[in-house]
Amino acid sequence: MQDISHHLQDVLRRVVIASTEAGRDPRDVQLLAVSKTMPVAAIVEAYQAGQRHFGENYVQEAIAKITELAHLPLIWHLIGPLQSNKTAVVAANFDWVHSVDRLKIAQRLSAQRTIGLAPLNLCIQVNIDDEQSKSGCQVSELESLVTAIMALPNVVLRGLMIIPQTGNHFAFTQLAEIRQQLLATIPALDATQFDTLSMGMSADMDAAIGAGSTMVRVGTAIFGQRNNNVEILNK
Ligand SMILES: *Cc1c(COP(=O)(O)O)cnc(C)c1O
Repeated sequence: MQDISHHLQDVLRRVVIASTEAGRDPRDVQLLAVSKTMPVAAIVEAYQAGQRHFGENYVQEAIAKITELAHLPLIWHLIGPLQSNKTAVVAANFDWVHSVDRLKIAQRLSAQRTIGLAPLNLCIQVNIDDEQSKSGCQVSELESLVTAIMALPNVVLRGLMIIPQTGNHFAFTQLAEIRQQLLATIPALDATQFDTLSMGMSADMDAAIGAGSTMVRVGTAIFGQRNNNVEILNK
């Protein structure tokens, strides 16, 4: 695990190179370290190397880690699917949820957000290219979902998220265009607040940054290969 800080530096270098090549400021790209299935010690090591934003997929696993690491100033992002029976514990423990795909989930997160905590940051997951998968809202439903979420009191709509099929780099450009269209059709949507494109993982973060990603979600390139058995146990 001594490799984590080196891997982190490598990934941050990739962010700088991809941003510079695209004529973008590297500071406009946030690195989210995806720590699902990884032990608390790995998260601490990344923290000691300067990492602050961490992404988790499985609510139960995440809550255990968040509780154990409550003494550290970490920012926690839920990036995995969220069922409505888990919204209360998510609203009480996370800073961001990237995987909102229907109004009911956003309504529950807003209603259940702990009083005294900052509003919960939300991204809508968009199903851009995967007809098989049920996760993510359809592009055609996006405008009404955005408008409805904007009216909720204890959440802030920060942007859009995608998990495109492997190799579909065009999806990154499409999502950036969809964001622009929403800003054009919904005047009350504030571009400085609706500023997030959560896209790009270990294999394709460079292409995602080239297309305008503001948050890359990187697991394997920082922490190494995951043990699939742990992922299966979590499901
Ligand atoms: C696991 C996961 C990642 C990280 O994937 P890597 O290929 O390990 O970088 C990013 N986003 C989501 C939604 C994930 O589930």
